[in-house]
Amino acid sequence: MNIIFLGPPGSGKGTHAQRVSEDMGIPRISTGDMLREQMKNGTPLGREAQAFVEAGELVPDGLVIKMLQERLAQPDCAHGVIFDGFPRTLPQAEALAQIADIDVVVNMEIPDEVIVERMQGRRVCPACGHTTHVEQLGDSQSCPKCGQGLTIRKDDLPETVLQRLRVYHEQTQPLIAHYQALGLLRSADSSGAVETTRANVRAALA
Ligand code: AMP
Repeated sequence: MNIIFLGPPGSGKGTHAQRVSEDMGIPRISTGDMLREQMKNGTPLGREAQAFVEAGELVPDGLVIKMLQERLAQPDCAHGVIFDGFPRTLPQAEALAQIADIDVVVNMEIPDEVIVERMQGRRVCPACGHTTHVEQLGDSQSCPKCGQGLTIRKDDLPETVLQRLRVYHEQTQPLIAHYQALGLLRSADSSGAVETTRANVRAALA
């Protein structure tokens, strides 16, 4: 089963894609996580991607498609994949259609105002990659998984969030109509509490 999670930055795609991945026992592929890993390791791809990611722009299609193709060729992807943050453009969707049959596209629906508020509180662990929100942390500013001090992703800074939203509306939102026309789209309201969204995602996949 191949499932795409579609939605703007900060819509909860990553969190809910991860839960569905664990529930279904199939891997989640996050192109954002893969790019951050490449950047952290200073690989040629990471160095090429860095300026785009930090400016809130999309990394060029060719680079991301090649990275994804290599990941999909790995044996753990044989029984399906949860795509988180890919495709983000029509050319990416067309490339994906050549290499995988998509069963369902979950579209995370959330107004821009809620995203901006939410992303101001997002924190990430530089050691294990866990993402959380200040409201879930209480007094501690440490990672609940590994105890490391949490940081703010450079591309979560307010001006970059607004740029990422602009990029989403221009380049990624057209995918909603694309997958709707293919009869694959199911929507899940993700503007509320995390457990409410979880139930909406479950209903979309039922
Ligand atoms: P994410 O963690 O999914 O929000 O991705 C963080 C950043 O990585 C994005 O703002 C883009 O710069 C880049 N990125 C992730 N996935 C893609 C993709 N499918 N196409 C192009 N750029 C991407």
